Parts: sequence; structure tokens; C-alpha cells
Amino acid sequence: MSKPLVAIVGRPNVGKSHLFNRLVGKRISIVEDTPGITRDRLYAECEWAGHNFDLVDTGGIEPNTKNEMLLFMREQAQIAIDTADVIIFVCELKTGVTAADEDVAKMLQRSGKPLVLCVNKADTIGEIDPNVYEFYSLGMGDPIPVSAVHGHGTTELLDEVIKHFGEKETASDEFEGIKVAVVGKPNVGKSSLVNFILGEKRTIVSDIPGTTRDSVDGYVNNEYGNYLFIDTAGLRRKSKVKDSIEYFSVLRAKLAIDRSDVCLLMIDAEEGASEQDTKIAGLIQDAGKACIILVNKWDLITKETNTMEEERKKIYEVLSFMRYAPILFVSVKEGTRVRDIFELINEVYSESRKRVSTGLVNEVLGDAVIRLQPPSDKGRRLKLYYMTQTAVAPPGFVIFCNKIELFHFSYRRYIENRIREAFGFKGNPIRIIIKQKGDND
Ligand code: GDP
Ligand code: GDP
Repeated sequence: MSKPLVAIVGRPNVGKSHLFNRLVGKRISIVEDTPGITRDRLYAECEWAGHNFDLVDTGGIEPNTKNEMLLFMREQAQIAIDTADVIIFVCELKTGVTAADEDVAKMLQRSGKPLVLCVNKADTIGEIDPNVYEFYSLGMGDPIPVSAVHGHGTTELLDEVIKHFGEKETASDEFEGIKVAVVGKPNVGKSSLVNFILGEKRTIVSDIPGTTRDSVDGYVNNEYGNYLFIDTAGLRRKSKVKDSIEYFSVLRAKLAIDRSDVCLLMIDAEEGASEQDTKIAGLIQDAGKACIILVNKWDLITKETNTMEEERKKIYEVLSFMRYAPILFVSVKEGTRVRDIFELINEVYSESRKRVSTGLVNEVLGDAVIRLQPPSDKGRRLKLYYMTQTAVAPPGFVIFCNKIELFHFSYRRYIENRIREAFGFKGNPIRIIIKQKGDND
């Protein structure tokens, strides 16, 4: 079941990141840090009163100038509107309602998304501070006084948030198919690709029935199967804030990746794989998602013998940790090989869910150990006892050994390569967990 997404929006300095950390608390496991975003934590899985949801802080960076602030807040609010199921709008008690608050509040209301109004820095306990009532003027319902620093008010806030989950939690079960995120740098051709695909005859664009979500997801039903292209409206929108284009594109990418089964990482054929592509590839790998690399604008390349092979090599040199991802050279403009994408999506998706029997896995392990002796240190040699597949999507294996310290990175890589050689798992990252067992000689 896909979880509801809750976004925190508000002016700089109202206490969003404190609130995020407070809501995350001990109940929540931090998923991971996001490279390229200055905030140390952006995204976390939460649980409250039996409801699981994802929490995102959209306010990761400070705008450079005062003039840019409003533009910046609108951009963040728009991301929340495009992606979240419930939005927590954070204001600050001591400053009261500001013009920027009013502006963003109006924008959020127009979206029709469920909103929860939080008045932070209400630090005193007991009687409600009369200044809280001023926030009724935003027309967002009851303001909930919270002290992110001290923690009070957060119970009421979370109770209010989960009241809006009902529709999402039931509706999300209805989609049967593969969820696809199209990610990549600005201008690489993401929206052109999604338009191309959604523009096809058998396309049905609709919304999940019974939800308040805007129609940002694109549904495709064709002879290859059922697909949901995630957050396509968001992908179409370009950032208006100077210097923050990369930040917003990474944030959008992260949100789309987390909801997907398969990611299409688009790379510009003329520019080749860049640092930003590496960053997005890292997000995909860390999220454990299947990935296909699409090299777009192939029509602009002068082809000689082996051009494709040479390009493939260059890309794998830059994205060296993602050599498992298949590369497809396309031109969305001319429609070249675009339909091949669907077959590849089906293939990497089914690979992500493949299970290999423990017997076979151990044959491979036994053979690997014979071909390359495990490392030793000060007379102690690494012994590998047993390996079994414990997870799918991404495929995960546990290996039991005598001494974890002896299991060097390079040997782990060797074992991973043997697993791939034997079983494929094309397009998917593999997770290997090493455990130590008894017998320490
Ligand atoms: P953000 O920019 O909205 O993420 O705001 P931060 O979480 O970084 O907080 C901005 C400032 O407000 C920091 O100095 C915090 O210590 C302070 N702050 C945050 N929450 C509270 C609160 O509940 N009470 C008080 N008194 N200060 C707070
Ligand atoms: P996005 O920012 O990643 O969504 O990129 P867009 O889809 O908006 O495309 C950016 C520009 O690249 C537009 O001018 C497109 O017409 C152009 N474009 C997209 N795909 C191709 C392609 O395959 N070949 C060429 N030559 N141009 C393309």
C-alpha cells in the first residue's frame, strides 16, 4: 500500500525543521539523508496511532534575498500541493500573521488539499495564548498551538493530520500496475517523454477515484500492461527561483522516486552523464528502486561505428555504481525506441521481485569461494557458511560468516558480481547483509 505523504510548508525560521525532528521523534525511523540538500534530514517515515505515512520538510534552503522569499515559499507550497496528501502549514505565534503567510495560505486553499494549520513557538503551557486566535483570519480552520522545541501540541497536530488519511489509504490499493518515475536534470526531456507516452491512443488519464489529489499522475494502459507515471504535472513545472533549480529538481525527484517501482533516469546525449545525474542515480539506488538509464536526444548525435558502445562505456564510467542499469538510447522528438521502454520496464520490474531458491544461491556461493579464496588476516581466514535471499524490491541477501571484519568490501563486490552473473537482477540494486555466526576459529 502506498503511504500518505504529509508535507510541512512555511516561512523560513518559523521552526519547520524543529517540528520535523519533533514529529519524527523516536517513533520514526529515518530513511536516509539526501545529498545535495543542505538540510540534514528531509524525509522520514512516520507512524502515529497505527497510521504509517511519510513526512517531508519542503523548506530545505534559505532564499538569498528578502525579495526572493515569497517566490520561494510559493515554489515550496506548489511542490507540497503537487505531491502531498496533507499539508501542515506552519506559522509563528510571536510574529502573528504576516503578508507572506496570507499569500501562501490562499494558494494552499485554492488547491483543495487537506490543510492543517500549526502555530509554532507557543511555548507556554496551560491557557491558550489569545494571540493564537488571530490565525483564524487565515481561513484554514482551527489553529493548533505547538511548541516544536518543547513538544507540546504535537499530539493534537498529528491527530488532526491523520483525520485526513481515510481516502488515500483505501484508494491507494486500487492501482494494479507498475509505478514509474521519470527523473533527470531540467531540460533533458522528461515532460516531452511523459507527454509522448500519455499522448498515445490507448492512454487513459484519470485520477484515483475518491481522492482529493490533483490530476498529476498519468495512467497508461497499453499492450504491455498498466502503468502509472508519477507526478507528471510537477515534472512539467519549471522553477522560477534563481539558484534553486537544482534544489527543487532534486526534491521533486526524491519524492517521485520514493513512490515508484521503476525509475527512468534521463540523461542528455550531448552532455553525457554529469554530476547531477550521479546525484539522482544515488537517490534511486539508496531508495532501492529498479532503474533504466535513458539517453535522450540521440537524434542530435553524429553516429559513427560504435558510437553507442562508446557512449555506454562513458556513462558506466561516471555512474560506476549503477552498471546494473540497462541503457537505452532514445529520441523522444523522433519517437526512436520510445516503445522499447515498456518492455524494459516490465523486465526490470519482474527482476526486482524475483526470488531465487536457497539451494541455488548456495551453489553459487560454494562455487564463488572455490574460484576466489576468501581473504584472511593474521592467520584467520574468512569462512562463508550460508547465504539466503531474504527480500525482494530490492533483492536482498543475508550471508552468514565466521568474522564480519574479514569480509572486505572487495570480496563483497565479488560475491555480488557472482550473484548477478548467475541470476541477473537486471536494473536492480542488490543489498547484501553480512552476519556472523558461532565458530570463530
Ligand atoms: P525553519 O527555517 O522553519 O526550518 O526553522 P528552524 O526549525 O530552523 O527554527 C528557526 C528558529 O526558531 C530556531 O532558532 C529555533 O530554535 C526556533 N524555534 C523553533 N521551534 C521553536 C519553538 O517551538 N519555540 C521557540 N521558542 N523557538 C523555536
Ligand atoms: P524537462 O525539463 O526534462 O521536462 O525537458 P522538456 O521535456 O521540457 O524538454 C526540454 C527541451 O528538449 C524541449 O525544447 C524539447 O523539445 C527538447 N527535447 C526533448 N526531447 C528531445 C529529443 O529527443 N531530441 C531533441 N533534439 N530535443 C528534445
